[in-house]
Amino acid sequence: MGSLTTALASFCDIKSQGGKWFVRIDDIDPPRAMAGAEQAILAGLEAHGLSGDLPIQRQSEHQAQFESARRQLEPECYYCRCSRRSLASSGPYPGNCREFVAYRPDSALRISVDKAERTYEDAYLGTQRYRLDQDCGDFIIWRRDGLVSYQLATAVDDGQGISHVLRGEDLLASTPPQRYLQERLGLTTPTYAHLPVLCHPDGTKLSKQSHAPALDNQRALENLRQALGYLGHPPPSHPFNIADLLGWAVAHWNLNAVPRERAYVGPLQ
Ligand SMILES: [Zn+2]
Repeated sequence: MGSLTTALASFCDIKSQGGKWFVRIDDIDPPRAMAGAEQAILAGLEAHGLSGDLPIQRQSEHQAQFESARRQLEPECYYCRCSRRSLASSGPYPGNCREFVAYRPDSALRISVDKAERTYEDAYLGTQRYRLDQDCGDFIIWRRDGLVSYQLATAVDDGQGISHVLRGEDLLASTPPQRYLQERLGLTTPTYAHLPVLCHPDGTKLSKQSHAPALDNQRALENLRQALGYLGHPPPSHPFNIADLLGWAVAHWNLNAVPRERAYVGPLQ
């Protein structure tokens, strides 16, 4: 329900502006990918009428672009062997490995960030200010296990013609590093909107990891009605089919009507 609600919000938001909506599968992390997850996601979207205007993209097919971006950024990077355990769990990376600018194997690649304050306009949250050196410090663009980092893959894919990104506020902290990479790579930067995510009564995000119940595709119409309710757009009670309900939602969409407070779904089972 959490993923459906965010997907539905992005669908309504871009469609209401006359844009095209599409699905990108972020499958760059094979060790963490769960078997069947992609099929389940696509079947869920289809059952709820959320079909893309463009073919499905897969990040795993963009490897050459990620490697090219890596080569472009390498002069600003160094080779880090700090284990996650050796670093404090919060606060910016302290720069332990900054001297290792020459290649050394078995390392992650970290980009050196500057001390500039930057701002951007979040279409939902308003002006966001950040300083990368204080927020996250030098961050990883290429992982020690040889995989592109989430930040670099997302920055490259979002920085090539994507006009709008709407996602959960759980990803708000990823936006400054991604914007920074787009800037360094000379890519475009989308407009961002970060919406509250659905939570369990204890405040944790609704997700597969938190054992949220799987969405029942047989109840697609009711699921969509419920999701629109969470988004502050409760539809009229007269009977709709899925296409008409989505049409109603796009026609009535107003980003500012999405409630500021998180919606809590529960009780925890
Ligand atoms: Zn290090």
